[in-house]
Amino acid sequence: MNVLKLSAPAKINYRLDVIRKRPDNYHDLRMVMQRIALHDEIEISLSGPPGIRVSCSREGVPSGPANIAWRAAEAIVSRTSKETGVDIHITKNIPVAAGLGGGSSDAATVMMGLNTLLGLHLPDLELMSMGLELGADVPFFIFGKTALAEGIGERLTEIEGVPHAWLVLVNPNIHVSTAWVYQNLQLTKDKVVATLPKFSNRISDICSILLNDLEPVTIGRYPVIGEIKEMLREKGAAGVLMSGSGPTVFAVFENENDAQKCHAEISGLSSWFSVVTHTI
Ligand code: ATP
Repeated sequence: MNVLKLSAPAKINYRLDVIRKRPDNYHDLRMVMQRIALHDEIEISLSGPPGIRVSCSREGVPSGPANIAWRAAEAIVSRTSKETGVDIHITKNIPVAAGLGGGSSDAATVMMGLNTLLGLHLPDLELMSMGLELGADVPFFIFGKTALAEGIGERLTEIEGVPHAWLVLVNPNIHVSTAWVYQNLQLTKDKVVATLPKFSNRISDICSILLNDLEPVTIGRYPVIGEIKEMLREKGAAGVLMSGSGPTVFAVFENENDAQKCHAEISGLSSWFSVVTHTI
């Protein structure tokens, strides 16, 4: 086998508490992270002359070493003495700089795919620690389960009983820099976080925890995000929140019909990116 075609799913954050700023300038977080069906397609092949080559279908996303998938491939290739050519093509479906973790998921998928193709058998824990060097969300995508993520995102615990949900995602075609959001976050003292409730497969469990400490920062700069939230609430969503550092907003629905109905009502209104998807 020398070709693999893989899906790299996006994520949403049902919860994002910022606990404190650390001396190394990172932030200690507590996040509830959920993978969703919206995904990039990654084709990896071992072929051609030695070296790593990355191409991407989306204009504006870098090819070559500036692509996080290239750095992920390099990290894995450095673990083998085999001289090999690696070609990676990314078909981008996940909006970029959107709070959906697209780049991190591409990187995680490349690491797992190359681990298989090169027969390295590196354990997931090792891949996760290598992935953390590339980005704080990379370990979550290797972990591969709905998770409580603590620290900068590297301490992962599976959360059981989180219900399947239908989602409408709306992104007003704005790129938000995660670094900018954290720089503009005003923290006075350490946040004391309440224990999360036990999940028992009810949509109301999700809705009861929806909160994102980064939301006021991003909405302060882009008020349209607040307007999108309001509109999705009016269309009957059970819960609405911005994901990660934004600007993508997700609306939670119990069934596909209600999600499709909401999507149909909003999709003609503007040139915003919107899609119906679901948790995986
Ligand atoms: P997060 O939620 O982890 O902050 P995000 O969804 O906000 O991530 P990404 O889509 O990962 O952000 O993109 C962030 C930046 O990384 C963009 O400026 C983009 O040009 C660059 N980038 C490099 N490689 C990739 C990739 N494979 N996919 C998307 N963006 C990439």
